[in-house]
Amino acid sequence: MTDVKPTASHYVDGAYLDDADGQPFDVIYPATGETLATVHAATKAVTDAALDAATRAQAEWAALSPRSRGRVLTDAARIMRERNRELSIIETHDTGKPLQETLVADATSGADALEYFGGIANGLTGEHIQLGDDWAYTIREPLGVCVGIGAWNYPTQIACWKAAPALACGNAMVFKPSENTPLAALKVAEILTEAGAPPGLFNVVQGMGEVGGRLITDPRVAKVSLTGSVGTGKKVYSAAAAEMKHVTMELGGKSPMLVFDDADIENAVSGAILGNFYSSGQVCSNGTRVFVHRSVKEQFLDRLAKRLATAKLGDPLDEETNFGPIVSQQQLDIILGYVARGKEDGARLVTGGARLDKPGFWMSPAIFADVTDDMTIAREEIFGPVMSVLDFNDEDEAIRRANDTPYGLSAGVYTQNLARAHRVIRKLHAGSCFINSYNDAPVEVPFGAVKQSGVGRENAKAAIEHYSQLKSVYVRMGDTEAPF
Ligand code: NAD
Repeated sequence: MTDVKPTASHYVDGAYLDDADGQPFDVIYPATGETLATVHAATKAVTDAALDAATRAQAEWAALSPRSRGRVLTDAARIMRERNRELSIIETHDTGKPLQETLVADATSGADALEYFGGIANGLTGEHIQLGDDWAYTIREPLGVCVGIGAWNYPTQIACWKAAPALACGNAMVFKPSENTPLAALKVAEILTEAGAPPGLFNVVQGMGEVGGRLITDPRVAKVSLTGSVGTGKKVYSAAAAEMKHVTMELGGKSPMLVFDDADIENAVSGAILGNFYSSGQVCSNGTRVFVHRSVKEQFLDRLAKRLATAKLGDPLDEETNFGPIVSQQQLDIILGYVARGKEDGARLVTGGARLDKPGFWMSPAIFADVTDDMTIAREEIFGPVMSVLDFNDEDEAIRRANDTPYGLSAGVYTQNLARAHRVIRKLHAGSCFINSYNDAPVEVPFGAVKQSGVGRENAKAAIEHYSQLKSVYVRMGDTEAPF
């Protein structure tokens, strides 16, 4: 039986730490509403201890050979895989996501990131630039102490997607999980220590936005990587900009999925299900505006509603369950507010959208049809299981309407015409795109956004650019000439 109760609130300098002076807040299991534990927000004493420990550890860590650093990360990946079931149960208690999902998408994806960046650590190099007889070289250096701030939908994955490239490049990290999901990142810290990371290399401090704000503005911090909403992103980005700190911003979206009349409809329905209802719809890259060609719209809706009726809502720890609760009462209220707004604005509720009469934070997955571009449910990120189906007549119209949003995280196209697929994807304003698929995020592929959905990239070699900086060194081989 996995004990999900955390050993202490924080993980600082290689050990669990508590400070009862910090504001207490409850860890609630979304499936039942039951309180699993109470943790304390980090006081200034705790954030100071974490930043001091990270500063010390970073100097020691950066002095190691890249291969030694990489080995710690790959060892951590191995331990995560060995402990996958335990970590998945903790992730399920943190978020409410069904174990069927967490067993394959959370610690495993975190392990993928640790393994990938552990593997490429010793391949990180500068370059040689020949300039006649003179020459220059570049050195890829770490940034220093990085702060990671997480959202609540993928607490293990977010911690690892930030920590793995940061540590591979020789940085240290202080990570603040979402106050809704404080448990999972503590395990990541514990595992990194077990794998041989020096004390202080990866610290976890709990708390609300205020704790995040304190970390960002601290002079010991060189970089901030946030996963969160656009509103929070604007605040964090501007606070970081005031001191010219590096940022990565992984923010919200209202991504389009385009289903053309030549699409394989069953596959398109699968893509729409994955892109709207996986993790109860709480995925940033979800394709929540599903534009379906008018000629296949009713067929699409019919199949979608039939397949959705087979979703299995229930105990998230039952591996047959494939649709879990919403993370919190607050988020459930927000989502149900959007469902009401959709109905008021004249969208047709095909199915779902009702609060379920049971303990915890449950609703049935909702599909709206006849949604128009100006409706609130088509414009704002809902971050819940609410799909908007819109219809269109031709390709140019679909592209124009798909791009008519301040967001730019993802986009997907379903068509069997490959020329059309690539042509349309080229014109869509989004960072992470899919052809005849939706929401794949392997660590080998850069993940990120354009427009207000974010800045920078996570995963792949691209992440290295965001966790390191180049020092250029000019080498003169002859005399130094001066004008006087
Ligand atoms: P949120 O913006 O409310 O909070 C995100 C984190 O920021 C939390 O840890 C929070 O405590 C912290 N925070 C809040 N105010 C802050 C401040 N002023 N200074 C510093 N930190 C502050 O987001 P959420 O509700 O936890 O998560 C949902 C959002 O995250 C959605 O918009 C979703 O699209 C987005 N998200 C994006 C990605 C991505 O990779 N692009 C992934 C997952 C979630």
